[in-house]
This record gives sequence, structure tokens and C-alpha cells, in this order.
Amino acid sequence: MDDSLYGKRNKKGDWAPSAPLESSALWQWPPQPGKWLPWVVGFVWPWNAMFVLITCLTWWLVIPEPAVMAQLQWSWVLKLFAWNWLGLLAYYALFEGLLYARKTQDRRFKYNGKFPAEQPSDVFWFKSQNIDNFIRSFFISIPIGSAVEVLLLWQYANGGLAALSWDTQAALICAWFPLAMFVQELHFYAIHRLSHTPFLYKWVHSVHHNSVNPSPWSSMSMHPVEGLMYFAVALWVLVLPAHPLIAIHLFTIPAFGAIVGHIGFDRIELPAGASTQPHSYAHYLHHKHFEVNYCDNGSVPLDTWFGSWHDGSAEGERRMQERYAAKVARLNTPKT
Ligand SMILES: [Zn+2]
Ligand SMILES: [Zn+2]
Repeated sequence: MDDSLYGKRNKKGDWAPSAPLESSALWQWPPQPGKWLPWVVGFVWPWNAMFVLITCLTWWLVIPEPAVMAQLQWSWVLKLFAWNWLGLLAYYALFEGLLYARKTQDRRFKYNGKFPAEQPSDVFWFKSQNIDNFIRSFFISIPIGSAVEVLLLWQYANGGLAALSWDTQAALICAWFPLAMFVQELHFYAIHRLSHTPFLYKWVHSVHHNSVNPSPWSSMSMHPVEGLMYFAVALWVLVLPAHPLIAIHLFTIPAFGAIVGHIGFDRIELPAGASTQPHSYAHYLHHKHFEVNYCDNGSVPLDTWFGSWHDGSAEGERRMQERYAAKVARLNTPKT
């Protein structure tokens, strides 16, 4: 495919799409009902449909009877951990392998003109972003997320947590599937803003931001404290009536969904000249500029509401520079 039809490449070799990013159509004012159905289709397909499928497969194939989970035993805990670990490895390796190892579409639609393997740096373990990000994602973040999931399932099974009933509250359980995306987005926005406060940024979140040029391995490359904050989204079932299936879904969404912002390509080329847009640009701009796009404005335009939205346009860039200038002026103003 010819990526120059969709965007421009600068002298450094970085590519940017021509069309500005669009925020969620649900919240536009005045309302534009014509955009609602396309938004719902884009919300469901492909990512959310896939997350629901993964959660259901986990439930059918891996989760034992409550009587088994009432005891914290290695047999079911390790089986669930292996399922999570191997499933995520296959899923992430597919994107990383095709786009970054085999380079099936070379640099076409790639935001950053370089591949991480071309940029060794002391900020990474073994000077390699790929090795560092892989170890942090798979040996720190996934075990932390799985541990949260196991503890919740164990609590549901031994009666420590009350579950909604399939017999009388099935509609509520099903309603959780779309609701979980909103909960994830609100939770992520809140912890992400918190992570950018000076102390947490310096000691915790900067680990994730070392990857200025993210790839799929970067998706869950985090400090352990951030890993815990990130997967703590599942703890919302402690305060909202839910079901163990939803506790699993609140692991699936952050674990499998983290890749969305870290693919690094605007379009993935498919056979027969087709392509799909993974919606990576908003979070790519966050990795590039830091103080913009704390969420992707995917379902709820929190970045717009709180003044941190960058849609990739010249106007978005101007607003960001204005905010920086105002911040610098504020910091340089002597306190009286
Ligand atoms: Zn990121
Ligand atoms: Zn950040």
C-alpha cells in the first residue's frame, strides 16, 4: 500500500496521518445521531468482540468448579497463569513478529521511522528495548495481573465476595461487558494522571515512558507498582456487584487491550490490498509528547474535558505548546 495517500513522512522518517483523530461520537455536541451506529460498530469490532471471546474461552476451558477454587491450590492457579502467559505470548508475538521482526510492511504507516532494535540505550536492561520490555511485560506485569485475578476468583469461590446470579440477574452480568470498557477507561485515565505527578513519574511511570518508540512488547512494560495500579481495575468488582466472569474480563481487557496503543503503525496491511486501523495514534502521541492523551478518548472524551487532547493536527500541536508555555510560566513565577 502507498502510505503517502494517507499521511506524510518528515525528514527524520517519521510518518503521521493526515486526518486528525476523532473523539468518541457519543459525546459530541450538538448530538450527531448519524455517527452513533458507526461508533458502536467500531467499539465492538474487532477489539472488544475479541476480548469477550477470550474471556469466555478462559471461563469454559480453564476455570474449574468453585469448590476447587475455594482452595488456593497450585493446580488451578498455575493452569490459569499458564493460559494467560502463553495466550498473551502468542498474541503479542504475532504482532511483534510480523511487524517488527519480519517487517512484513517495512516502515509503511510506521509513526517512528526507526525500529526499537536500531536504537540501543542505557535506559533499558541489556541496552535493548525489546529485551527490557519483554521481561517487564511477561515476568512482572502478567504475573501481577494474574495474581489479582486469582485472588478475586478465590474470594468469589469461598464466599468472601457475593456474585450476581445467572438465574435472576443475567441481564446485569451481560451489561457488564460493555460497561467494563468504560470502567477500564475511567480507571486507566485516573491512574495514568496520577502516574504523571512528579514523584510517581520519577520513580514509577518513567519506566514505561523509556519506550518513546513503543512496540507491542512495550505494552505492559511497567514498574511493578504501576503493574499493580494498572491491573487493580479488576478490584472494582469489590465495590460494584459483579460476577467471577467479570473479574476475568477485567484482566482480559487491560492485558490484551494494552497492545492497542503500542502497535506503532497506523494501519496494518492485510491481503488483497485491504488494511485495518488499530487505533494506535493517540497513545503514540502520549509516548512522544508525554503530557497529552492520558486515555484515547475512545469511549469517554476525558482528555478533551480535562484539556489534554491532542488529535495529531497542527491545531492540536498549537494547543499543546500553549499549555507547555503556560506551565513553564507558572513554574517560573516567583512565589510571593
Ligand atoms: Zn504506553
Ligand atoms: Zn504516561
